[in-house]
Amino acid sequence: MAQEANKVTLSSPVSALSGIGPSRHKALLRLGVETVRDLLFHIPRAYEDRSSISLLAETPAEEKATFLLTVGSSPVTTRLRGNLSLTKFRAFDESASVEITYFNQDFLKNVFTVGETFRFSGKLERKGKRLFLSSPKHERYQENEPLPDYIPCYKLSEGITASVLQKALNQALSLASTTLVDYLPEDIRQRNNLPTLLYALSSLHFPRGIEDIRRGARRLAFDELFLFALRLQLSKTKNAAETSLPIKQADKEIFLSRLPYTLTGAQARACAEIAEDIQKGAPMNRILIGDVGSGKTVCAMYAIFLALNSGHQAAVMAPTEILAQQHFAQMKPFFEEMGYKTALLLGSLSPKEKKEVYRRLAETNEERIDLVIGTHALLSEKTVFSDLALTITDEQHRFGVLQRATLRGKSPHSHLLVMSATPIPRTLALTLYGDLSVSTIDEMPKGRERVDTFVVDCSYRERLLAFIRKQTEEGGQVYVVCPAIQEDIEEENVPLSDLMSPKQEDDRLPLAYAENERETLQKAFPDLKVGLLHGKMKSAEKEAVMAAFAQGELHILVSTTVIEVGINVPNANLMLIENAERFGLAQLHQLRGRVGRGSRKSYCVLLSDAKNGTARRRLETMRTVYDGFKVAEEDLKLRGPGDFFAASGSDEFRQSGGLSFRFAHLCTEEGLLLQAAEEAKNLLEGKTELYPEKHAALQNEIARMMQDTAGIIS
Ligand code: ADP
Ligand code: MG
Repeated sequence: MAQEANKVTLSSPVSALSGIGPSRHKALLRLGVETVRDLLFHIPRAYEDRSSISLLAETPAEEKATFLLTVGSSPVTTRLRGNLSLTKFRAFDESASVEITYFNQDFLKNVFTVGETFRFSGKLERKGKRLFLSSPKHERYQENEPLPDYIPCYKLSEGITASVLQKALNQALSLASTTLVDYLPEDIRQRNNLPTLLYALSSLHFPRGIEDIRRGARRLAFDELFLFALRLQLSKTKNAAETSLPIKQADKEIFLSRLPYTLTGAQARACAEIAEDIQKGAPMNRILIGDVGSGKTVCAMYAIFLALNSGHQAAVMAPTEILAQQHFAQMKPFFEEMGYKTALLLGSLSPKEKKEVYRRLAETNEERIDLVIGTHALLSEKTVFSDLALTITDEQHRFGVLQRATLRGKSPHSHLLVMSATPIPRTLALTLYGDLSVSTIDEMPKGRERVDTFVVDCSYRERLLAFIRKQTEEGGQVYVVCPAIQEDIEEENVPLSDLMSPKQEDDRLPLAYAENERETLQKAFPDLKVGLLHGKMKSAEKEAVMAAFAQGELHILVSTTVIEVGINVPNANLMLIENAERFGLAQLHQLRGRVGRGSRKSYCVLLSDAKNGTARRRLETMRTVYDGFKVAEEDLKLRGPGDFFAASGSDEFRQSGGLSFRFAHLCTEEGLLLQAAEEAKNLLEGKTELYPEKHAALQNEIARMMQDTAGIIS
């Protein structure tokens, strides 16, 4: 018995592995690694490419490179001041020789024997004719044992070095080789040409080559999409039987006559779909997808109107306080004039204010609040409705399936409408929102002026500065978006997602960093206020910066893509995107949607030195296509579905309990995505025979996944 308890399994805490003591265990927990199994799924975020060997003589100074060098002199260690010691020796290749130094690693004396060859990787320095390598990474090279071309780079944390991880992973994989259950039914695995789970994980952690990495990542991406689709189908089946609160017919003229404009054709169609769905007697599960600015809010208001008109309550949930406040400012007067009571519920309200809202939401007399608009605060247990018939979530991709369910759970018979400003191709919508009916708004309100889009290379920088000057002088505001926050020491490494498709030289163009960019712009415009916004900032800081920009206190906002889902700053009229080749089309389109929201003539400038065909074609698409759905179709064709998940899989979305995909962004084939959804559907419809014992592992996996996501939102 006692022995059983000591046996290490995949569910054991990582501390069960040798080499992982309490402090490393803690550090791993910070990385989200709790169990041995979690460790296996802590896959590299990038790989260092050591596949090409450079010659010393041909490598420019300050360039990071990999060399195959033979040790030419015995290492000598000298004491420097204090505890510092320096180990020094020479090594050579056929072109030149180099002096190699290491600090405080005296033991290396015994590693580097004269005549032996090592693979070194580091930054080459030149002083006159002399060459130096300081603390390069090194691996012993043996004629008959090729070294791996790609070295995994993990997200690390204090106390967890690559070699600690590697040792732990070795143990974990050896345990997995006998105990890891491959939950994916064998026939599905074979049909889709996928490796086993064990093979996939070993390939990612200890790759033998790039193809190995791709196959491994493809399997994990498939699994995630497949399990996601399964879960959606399961919840769809579960929902279908319920009945809903009755919503009666209403005179739509009462609603329309209060609007300052007439609906576009697409809005009218969406409103009609909503009305029909909501009156059917079963709970509505609908997503409204429409480009930024296409006018989704009014369709939501129509649904609210129908619910309130039948005497029920409605709730609107937005991902940020600012968005909630914006909706409230618009909806409060509209519905109060019709005699309904409204309230705003934000996490930042005082406990007393919140209590009052809670009380009045649960009320059944005339004090009852009919429409509440709020943030995640609505999900609190304390929010109890007396008669909730409709819940609406805005910017759906910021919320998880389960958050949707939580709000829904407040009133199981209520209708659900979710809104998304991410125009996505139909095939993707069906996969991502398989449990929802889809309404699309694919038409912009009339009179909306187009955001003129330009693609320029870096020789335009001076002219761009003048253009920024002109716009701000005329009272406009400017967004500048960069692909990264600050210089990363691991910059040279290739992100796993980039490895998934053949490498393109444009992926190696020098990057613009938001922090540097802010400084540069501040220097160029000392009289202007330049702000900085990025995902590593605390959310209160972020909101403060956004608010300052919205109020016109900042002239220029330099940011990473965090502004993608953001607020409405109608005064902003120039969007400048650095390294535009780095962004997916869908992303570029979202970014462009941040401008052109007010009366000012607006511009989007895509800055890129990209030369290759695909990158140019993408940017050209942006210049000529303005319809978000068309842009998205093109993106899917050019880059595969990965990009659509990349946005939802970033840390930021994960924190906000988004769809929380971890691997799906590695999916580069539309076919694989469709196949995953298809397989899930077939499995549940019994086209693939379902034997309880055969699929027990799969059922466990779904249960585990649901538990995981539940953890994210609690
Ligand atoms: P989104 O789809 O991004 O949520 P909104 O609902 O916020 O867009 O609408 C964007 C702007 O367009 C708002 O100022 C809204 O008043 C305006 N608008 C919406 N529908 C129409 C319409 N049919 N005609 C003119 N303006 C409209
Ligand atoms: Mg909106």
